[in-house]
Amino acid sequence: MNKFAKLDQRFVWHPFTQMRDWLRREPIVIASGKGAVLRDVHGKAYLDANASIWTNLHGHQHPKINAAITRQLKKIAHSSALGYANEPASLLAERLAGIANCQLPIANLSKAHARPKNWKLAIGNCKLQKVFFSDDGSTALEVALKLAYEYTRRTRGPKTKPRFLSLSGAYHGDTIGAVSLGHIDLFHKAYGGMLFATDKVMAPYCYRCPFNQAKPERRDARNYRKCQWECVGLVEKKFAAQKKKGNPYAGFVFEPLMQGAAGMIPQPAGWLAQVTQIARAHGALLIADEVMTGFGRTGVANSEFEIRNSKLPLFASHHEGVTPDFLCVAKGLTGGYLPMAATLTTQRVFDAFLGEYEEFKTFFHGHSFTGNQLGAAAALASLDILQTKQSVLQRAKLQKLLHDELQTLWALPQVGDIRQVGLVAGVELVKDWRTRAPFALRERAGIRVCEAMARRGVLTRPVGNVMVLLPPYCTTATQLRQMVTALAEGVKEL
Ligand SMILES: *Cc1c(COP(=O)(O)O)cnc(C)c1O
Repeated sequence: MNKFAKLDQRFVWHPFTQMRDWLRREPIVIASGKGAVLRDVHGKAYLDANASIWTNLHGHQHPKINAAITRQLKKIAHSSALGYANEPASLLAERLAGIANCQLPIANLSKAHARPKNWKLAIGNCKLQKVFFSDDGSTALEVALKLAYEYTRRTRGPKTKPRFLSLSGAYHGDTIGAVSLGHIDLFHKAYGGMLFATDKVMAPYCYRCPFNQAKPERRDARNYRKCQWECVGLVEKKFAAQKKKGNPYAGFVFEPLMQGAAGMIPQPAGWLAQVTQIARAHGALLIADEVMTGFGRTGVANSEFEIRNSKLPLFASHHEGVTPDFLCVAKGLTGGYLPMAATLTTQRVFDAFLGEYEEFKTFFHGHSFTGNQLGAAAALASLDILQTKQSVLQRAKLQKLLHDELQTLWALPQVGDIRQVGLVAGVELVKDWRTRAPFALRERAGIRVCEAMARRGVLTRPVGNVMVLLPPYCTTATQLRQMVTALAEGVKEL
């Protein structure tokens, strides 16, 4: 066995991994990467079909990001944000504030996101202009939660017990606050005793929605569903019921357009606009978790418009005309190079923490690596790439190609639903598409298909029985076809 594989098995404990299974066979040891390709210590090449767990944007060893990090490294790798400012973090904060606010004119929203008839603009009057840096998606959510909690107590009175609402199936990270917002029993139930109480409301999951009267078809369930937007009605009900209790929700937490770890569950066009409007009407702060969906991942709405106005729209919320009160970003922030996160919020929230020193209104929260220079330098370079005409065109093309290639999978009887939002795709495996009968988790259908794909040189990780394709933006047409072909062959092997 390879030397590093041996060391790994002796000393490393891997995340979300049954280590007994892990120890049974030689792990793949990644030695290098270039573009969408990862290479292991034996020289075998693999396609990085989930962008290294949804982090990578422009591929590995991107010359521009490499150069930016090297340039910064010649100055300094890290100094503390406790007490000092630094060059790249201040530039990055300005840059993030410049792209975080939805400025998409309604006329430029894509047809796929056409407004429902009763739609009003959910933007409100908030403007994201303050940036709190941290390290990971989980910490970005913790920061948003603590700020929203304390902001609510300061504006509604110190006796208030701020309460949060999130979506069924939600995943917002693995730290305790983030877990409290989560609703995946497999991950979260065991820790129930450590958590604070939050509420959940039905997320749209058209393929398995009890309100959807449509029989299964060979296309995206969002597009043939038969319902009366009952899911939106339930959100309205939930907010109204909480208001009746005399303690309206302080915050509504959601992943816009697509819930990732919940199983790549996409929202039908118009859902986000409607529910955020309801939340705002009930005085709740909007907390958008764009850890997976941010930085162009959910697609190019209108490439001509985006080229003319190269700043927009890089966030999923913007596709529905929404600017939240808190925008949490991480994974793709540095192009997937370094652990860095940011929580953006409004002047209004910021002002609630201003006061004389002895009033102790300070936000007492921070991490050792807050505002890290190497991370900020990588993020600036990544944004430079993201906002080029070439990147917009490449993403628009890749998105279309992904759509076309995915259509070939409908021929497989074990493919129940194919859900694509921009450059994210979830393929739900079922025993029989006609009945939507699911595989039991213990059958490890998703894991087995991934193993078969790995043998064919394509790496990804399933979410339960949902196969995930989330290609780096630099993926070529040939590489993308190889990813989808490996997935099809893996399913045939089931
Ligand atoms: C990955 C993820 C997180 C957690 O981010 P970490 O960097 O792993 O802590 C939170 N929310 C969403 C939507 C994610 O996909």
